[in-house]
Amino acid sequence: MKRNIDIVFFKKALIERREQVLKNIQNFQEEIDSLKGIDLNDEADYAAISTDRLIESAITNKQAKELKEIEEALQKMEKGTYGICEMCEEPISLERLQVKPQAKYCIVCREIIEKNRKKE
Ligand SMILES: [Zn+2]
Repeated sequence: MKRNIDIVFFKKALIERREQVLKNIQNFQEEIDSLKGIDLNDEADYAAISTDRLIESAITNKQAKELKEIEEALQKMEKGTYGICEMCEEPISLERLQVKPQAKYCIVCREIIEKNRKKE
């Protein structure tokens, strides 16, 4: 059964989210670049900076992953498969899409995936 999804609304939400993520990545990049200019004589400083960098790269990875999910969701809109769970092929609830417009899975499948991930 096909349902009426407000594609215009979700597309706008996705594009806004993409802009935000791109901005975040750029900000992190700029911070990392500014750190590169620091003269590292003090070992303690160096340790602090490398910890910061680890956190930053983790954040950047997360943002990059989100960016990819947003791109995929936009592609699905073109194909007409937006809002369909990739696992069970059931429609993802609108409430869920409103919270996370790039969601790939419905809540049930999402929970299964999360549980499997924790076991690893
Ligand atoms: Zn599902």
